[in-house]
Amino acid sequence: MTATAPITQDVMTFPRKLPEGPVNLIGLTRDQMRDALIAHGTPEKQARMRVNQIWQWIYQWGKRDFADMTNLAKAYRADLAENFVLEIPELVTRQVSEDGTRKYLVRIAGGHEVEVVYIPEDGRGTLCVSSQVGCTLTCSFCHTGTQKLVRNLTAAEIIGQVMMARDDLGEWPVPGEKNVETRLLSNIVLMGMGEPLYNFDNVRDAMKIAMDPEGIQLSRRRITLSTSGVVPEIARTADEIGCQLAISFHATTDDIRDKLVPINKKWNIEALLNALANYPKVSNSERITFEYVMLAGVNDSDADAHRLIKLIRDYNIPAKINLIPFNEWPGAPYKRSSNNRIRAFADIVYEAGYASPVRKPRGEDIMAACGQLKSATERARKSRRQIEAEAGVRN
Ligand code: SAH
Ligand code: SF4
Repeated sequence: MTATAPITQDVMTFPRKLPEGPVNLIGLTRDQMRDALIAHGTPEKQARMRVNQIWQWIYQWGKRDFADMTNLAKAYRADLAENFVLEIPELVTRQVSEDGTRKYLVRIAGGHEVEVVYIPEDGRGTLCVSSQVGCTLTCSFCHTGTQKLVRNLTAAEIIGQVMMARDDLGEWPVPGEKNVETRLLSNIVLMGMGEPLYNFDNVRDAMKIAMDPEGIQLSRRRITLSTSGVVPEIARTADEIGCQLAISFHATTDDIRDKLVPINKKWNIEALLNALANYPKVSNSERITFEYVMLAGVNDSDADAHRLIKLIRDYNIPAKINLIPFNEWPGAPYKRSSNNRIRAFADIVYEAGYASPVRKPRGEDIMAACGQLKSATERARKSRRQIEAEAGVRN
């Protein structure tokens, strides 16, 4: 187990723009886009309007070629094409599970790869987005946690995952046509690779773009950020993003949580619950989701269920408890709780008055389920290496 590994990192910053070459307009806030346009010769008086026009083309209609932006003068479009690019992560592979789940492997600058998972459900569809390549934290049940952090994703790379999925689903509206009512991609969860609150600014800027009424237009109620418990950033999440919050809670005593979610040694259950108690008020959201991974014989007893309820009650937190059957991965030090055990645990929580849905593992056949997101990357890497090797032999 890696539970005793030290927590080595707090908030990191990475350069938001490439030091040279054309500027990527994707991922910039409206103010940043305005500054970038002015720096490249757009008159200040026009800049606000140009931002609005370009913004709509990019985020409402999904255009990524300046030549398509037909309400801009031709010469101005040519200027834009000279100074700026519109870049999102490159789709490398797409796997479709028997249950319809799609797992995308995308490549970002530097040749790194992250995974993005699309989960279709009745009347809605959820995109599980990554915020980092790897993770600095070392939760002992999580496969991503065994992969070292490579780097934070930029805001462009985070919102770009949503844009890539809309490309793949063919879901950009066409100007002049009426919007369809049920969207294929209707929800975002920040539950892919990485700890979103260790990449706060980029996650915030990307989610602001997702929520912008002139663009992708997802309500903040349809965006859920999952954190392992980076306490100092929780109030900022309420204040600056205002989305739904999910907490990787997973244990009811500090002893066990220290082992499962080692960030608990820095901010323990009490500190976490104190921070959570204020969240709904500040963010104006309804309930906090407590994610609870069911590990046989570790955290799944009746006593755990009762302790969980007591903690949530003591802190008066409006909550729903999402029970996640543990998804195994090669070498994992845990086993999934039996269905009967999960059911018994869920019933105790439910009878105490809290919703206790059991998360249905999706896309297991393509290793797309929660916490499995590392191995597939490695498999894909390996097979590409093999392909390259073969190509080398032939050449
Ligand atoms: N870093 C963030 C978000 C990514 S993990 C966080 O920890 O919240 C998304 C969810 O999947 C978390 O609740 C995480 O605890 C859970 N998870 C990780 N590994 C898992 C596994 N092997 N089986 C089931 N759920 C897992
Ligand atoms: Fe990182 Fe979340 Fe996995 Fe923990 S559960 S190692 S925080 S991705």
